[in-house]
Amino acid sequence: MPQVDTHCPYCALQCGMHLDGVRVTPRDFPVNAGGLCQKGWTSGALLTSPKRLTTPMIRFNGLLEPVSWDFALDFVARKLTELQAAHGPDAVAIFGGGGLTNEKAYLLGKFARVALGTSQIDYNGRFCMSSAAAAGTRAFGADRGMPFPVTDLADADVVLLAGANPAETMPPFTQHLRGADLIVVDPRRTATAELASLHLAPAPGTDLALALGILHAVVADGHLNQSYVDERTTGFAAMWRIAASWWPERAERVTGVSAADMRLAAAKLANARNAYVLTARGTEQHATGTATVGGWINLALSLGLPGRPGSGYGCLTGQGNGQGGREHGQKADQLPGYRKLDDPAAREYVAGVWGVDPDSLPGPGRSATELLEALGQEGGPKALMVFGSNVVVSAPRSQRVQDRLSALDLLVVADFVLSETAALADVVLPVTQWAEEDGTLTNLEGRILLRRKAIDPPPGVKSDLDVLNGLAVRLGHERFPADPETVFEELRIASKGGIADYSGVSYDRLCAGEALHWPVPSGDHPGTPRMFLDGFAHPDGRARFVPVEHTGPAELPDDEFPLQATTGRVLQHYQSGAQTRLIGELNDVVPEAFVEIHPDTAKRAGLEEGDQARIRSRRGEMTALVRFAQSLRPDLVFVPFHFPGAQRANLFTNPALDPVSRMPEFKVCAVALSAVDGA
Ligand code: SF4
Repeated sequence: MPQVDTHCPYCALQCGMHLDGVRVTPRDFPVNAGGLCQKGWTSGALLTSPKRLTTPMIRFNGLLEPVSWDFALDFVARKLTELQAAHGPDAVAIFGGGGLTNEKAYLLGKFARVALGTSQIDYNGRFCMSSAAAAGTRAFGADRGMPFPVTDLADADVVLLAGANPAETMPPFTQHLRGADLIVVDPRRTATAELASLHLAPAPGTDLALALGILHAVVADGHLNQSYVDERTTGFAAMWRIAASWWPERAERVTGVSAADMRLAAAKLANARNAYVLTARGTEQHATGTATVGGWINLALSLGLPGRPGSGYGCLTGQGNGQGGREHGQKADQLPGYRKLDDPAAREYVAGVWGVDPDSLPGPGRSATELLEALGQEGGPKALMVFGSNVVVSAPRSQRVQDRLSALDLLVVADFVLSETAALADVVLPVTQWAEEDGTLTNLEGRILLRRKAIDPPPGVKSDLDVLNGLAVRLGHERFPADPETVFEELRIASKGGIADYSGVSYDRLCAGEALHWPVPSGDHPGTPRMFLDGFAHPDGRARFVPVEHTGPAELPDDEFPLQATTGRVLQHYQSGAQTRLIGELNDVVPEAFVEIHPDTAKRAGLEEGDQARIRSRRGEMTALVRFAQSLRPDLVFVPFHFPGAQRANLFTNPALDPVSRMPEFKVCAVALSAVDGA
């Protein structure tokens, strides 16, 4: 096939690239301006991986055996029908992913609610961005990660990055920050913190106290943008009733960050002509994630940044389609167009598009962690179908997840390699990957991108869309499209009038190179690169200050578990590592899990650099190679979460959930360290 202009298969920046066969070269696209990180440069190797699955498999007598597609789909459809007949519609659950195309996310939601009639559907974005989505919706009335183009950041004087490490997770992004004075909030001295003029390193789990301390300094030191607060917001007084007691000296005692640095951060932001507050997983992946993100949004509102040209608040979305993945209906409580499943008008409209009775649509189901916890249990689903996710590595308390998967009557996994989750399945369905089919994704700035087919899939492989269509027909439903453009045509109609309105988008417009940021409510609408300039999405057009109070981590260190652990990503790997661990150039650099430890802490635990350490929490333990990190706080260890088996960081993470977003507490838990050979 000729060279194709496409986008990277990994993160939400969605860098532009050329693909010539399987050879990748960078493309001059606004978000990456010709840059790619190591993952992007080597992504062509995914297409020729010898680990590629090309035949459906069913487990017989404990072993996965090859079968035909017809046999596999007949088998799955029959088992699903039997289980639902015996236990009701919710006996079958669906688990999706934030890397799936918009078309797949949409069709998964429709498949669950129309073909299966189950309420049990959620996806791995619950583990990534759900706190920012909830906080953004509360504050602004709409959740678009960055409601402005990435390129706007080039004119910023000051940018505060809270819990974000783009220098490692999306390196080309940092070129947009070159002209700005950076303030970085992170308990670790990350590669991004190295770029900052001011690094604020709060104790793990105290980010919200820091946000409150800086906000207090904004008000107390005379930086409050009073006219903006009066004209464009509501709720300041209720919010201030809490923030008023967070004077910086009090916040210093909780966070360990000096009051002087908080005042300096407040002054830098307030005195900037253009300033941004950006958050990411470090603020979100907490049992208080929604409140914590809300604290940073309150700070941005007090300075008058959101909805002002050249300034703003944004969330750096993580997964490749992390934004689109949360808009089209694969979430437990959602219908296409970012509509709520319990909204009668939304149910009626979408049911009309789907040609079904609104009363036949199930209500909201369990969130991801709760869904996995219920598998195979009394009253829980008996079957699970997984698309684009590797929950055995990526979900909290992963040994328990593995046990739950093993308790199912039927586990079906659609993937292009035998991931750790697929290896447990009763049925494995080999599906296409990024460059082998057309599909749209929505990047971190809400821009809808068309990723065109660049290469034929290997014989024997089907698209997830074909799988859903094949199953829907076998379950007695005819209205399921399988061609990506046809699915998109239905999606855009289903989204019409919703918050994420794609109704004016078409493959033709995207092929023509139009830069379409949602909402795009008609075919002649130019898209909305900058949201909120004329008003926020609440009915009164005003943003909301939300009262939030610091409560701290869900668990604290004690004599038995005296340290805190945090998890995150490294440059060479992506999410559960199911893809990047296949790439020699990446895996050779970081082939196994490591634990970063301050040398003094390591010595107290009897560990030397290069030892294998055991990291143990109240829920489980993992092993990892010891790496000394002189810059790390002595009370903290850091572990990447990309590795399987005994090296899974999620063996010890805390599944405590945020009450609003249902985000687990990935970013902090109490642990103990010891040598693997020691007691
Ligand atoms: Fe791909 Fe993200 Fe790297 Fe860009 S920054 S090349 S999108 S992984």
